[in-house]
Amino acid sequence: MQIADNCVVTLAYTLKDNDDNIIDQSDDGSFCYLHGAMNIIPGLENALTGKVAGDELSVSIPPEEAYGVRDEARQQEVPRDMFPEDVEIEVGMQFHAQGPDGHQLVVTVVKVEDDRITVDGNHPLAGVQLNFDVKVLEVREATGEEITHGHVHGPGGHHH
Ligand SMILES: [Zn+2]
Repeated sequence: MQIADNCVVTLAYTLKDNDDNIIDQSDDGSFCYLHGAMNIIPGLENALTGKVAGDELSVSIPPEEAYGVRDEARQQEVPRDMFPEDVEIEVGMQFHAQGPDGHQLVVTVVKVEDDRITVDGNHPLAGVQLNFDVKVLEVREATGEEITHGHVHGPGGHHH
């Protein structure tokens, strides 16, 4: 069957940035998603519509259609006492923080200078072009329950 809304699709994929670094990979058939339910990046979902099991494709998705462009205003210096006292703060650590609009966001420590710590609230993949090599392993119809929940159940999906 062809991939369309309300199909469960199993993929093997390799995701690379523009420098050929592997960002993410799955080739054991453990990755599946519900098509048409915004489970994956829209650019990849659109490219997969109409494909069948066995098809292979390469898709390059610009940041604007993936995790957005970098916003330097989201990088800011915060005082040391904003962080837990008992933790040694190091570059690369991630913390949950409250954004200006009240939303939870993940910030990454990018600089530590005495008591001044610079964090970056951009998504780690903001500004990154996503290059997928994808193979469609399996396509099946979703169950009514999966469609209602908006995600896949069973192996590779939700258990609850
Ligand atoms: Zn569910």
